Amino acid sequence: MEYDPLEREFGEFDSPLFRQVVNQFDAVKERTGVDAGALERLRYPRRTAIVTIPVKMDSGETEIFFGYRVQHSLTSGPGKGGLRYHPNVSLGEVSGLALLMGWKCGLIGMPFGGAKGGINCDPTKLSQGELERLTRRFTLEMIPFIGPDVDVMAPDVGTDEQVMAWIYDTYSMHIGYSCPRIVTGKSVDLSGTKGRREATGRGVVYCIEEASKRLDIGLDSARAVVQGFGNVGSVAAQELFMRGVKVISVSDVRGAVYNGKGLEIDKLISHVRSTGSVVGFSEADSIDPERILALECEFLIPAALERVIHENNVQNLKCRVLAEGANGPTTNEADRILADSGDILVIPDILCNAGGVTVSYFEWVQDIQMFFWDEEEVNRRLKKVMADTFNTCFDFSIAEKVNLRTAALILGIRRVAVKKAARGLFP
Ligand code: NAD
Repeated sequence: MEYDPLEREFGEFDSPLFRQVVNQFDAVKERTGVDAGALERLRYPRRTAIVTIPVKMDSGETEIFFGYRVQHSLTSGPGKGGLRYHPNVSLGEVSGLALLMGWKCGLIGMPFGGAKGGINCDPTKLSQGELERLTRRFTLEMIPFIGPDVDVMAPDVGTDEQVMAWIYDTYSMHIGYSCPRIVTGKSVDLSGTKGRREATGRGVVYCIEEASKRLDIGLDSARAVVQGFGNVGSVAAQELFMRGVKVISVSDVRGAVYNGKGLEIDKLISHVRSTGSVVGFSEADSIDPERILALECEFLIPAALERVIHENNVQNLKCRVLAEGANGPTTNEADRILADSGDILVIPDILCNAGGVTVSYFEWVQDIQMFFWDEEEVNRRLKKVMADTFNTCFDFSIAEKVNLRTAALILGIRRVAVKKAARGLFP
């Protein structure tokens, strides 16, 4: 076989998302002013684990699933990042997401390194029993690789408080005592924190509030469109609705709904609880999910999956602010087009959705102390982290004449790289 330098460059991590994230890194790394050797190290994950997970299905047959965990860096503290259950999960996707987590933790100044994991499966097609057996066996296979001071998982697409509870229980049974710090995003009854479930969506809206002050947008006359109505999208929609923003359209994996007068988000959430989808909501019309990205609005929030805004649809966007609730929703080509036109303020993923890891950190701290805060305190601290980080990035972007994504990447990567350079390469 011929030697292909491009293949060697990305190695086993190669995937569209990994390339997207590494290209973003390469574009800004020299502006961090940090030692090139430390930066080169951060271009790749530190280590990965790939496991095969045998599961006895309800049918009686045994099925094998592939599971992944990627730790980008452990320089600043334990690895931290979500666990995703989705049919697209691969080593390359998880690796790209782990790097993004690294920059995010650096940007908000949390003592964690980036990590991410996932199992290639369709959780909507698995029974509760199958999901539990899958999760418990995955956890067991990961035990040499994780720990409360090594790598701490949290919910992501397709996982929730129940999945975290199974991981917590499996890990604790193995080590012989209860260890709630092994995961965050647990229910409050299980030593979770108040406000974690809502944290990412709330953080998105705290960023939107700060952006609106800078751009002079009045929230009570603004319109929003939300792609994805799971944990992040539904909470962001509800928080905007509570502030008087008209949420005119939302979508999920099954379809999209539209109401120009604004959707009643509480009623829509009840509809989703009883039917499993936004589709069929009686107080709205159905609309082509791709078309919702082109609706005129002040705030467009992609809150589903990555690479949904690309060079073939970016010209259609008619929002004033693109608030990236999802990780990696905009391809680099689309991002360049947005930057060149300058009409849309992009609040980049590593800033916009950092509320989740911020409150995960609060949960981890509370679990160490076994001393729990009320929700007001969690939200007050979250708001301060989000608003301060947004304004630091915004001011830096003006001073350095760069867009907000570049500003956030420089600040996030710099904080991780400075620590790595100071500690030095081992041996
Ligand atoms: P979730 O599983 O709770 O919800 C995902 C939603 O996206 C669902 O409503 C699903 O139907 C919808 N969806 C899937 N494919 C779609 C498609 N093609 N078109 C429209 N909608 C689609 O997941 P989540 O936790 O809300 O995560 C969403 C995004 O936010 C992901 O990119 C995740 O990495 C990111 N994120 C989540 C958190 C967190 O705390 N949960 C934190 C930071 C970032």
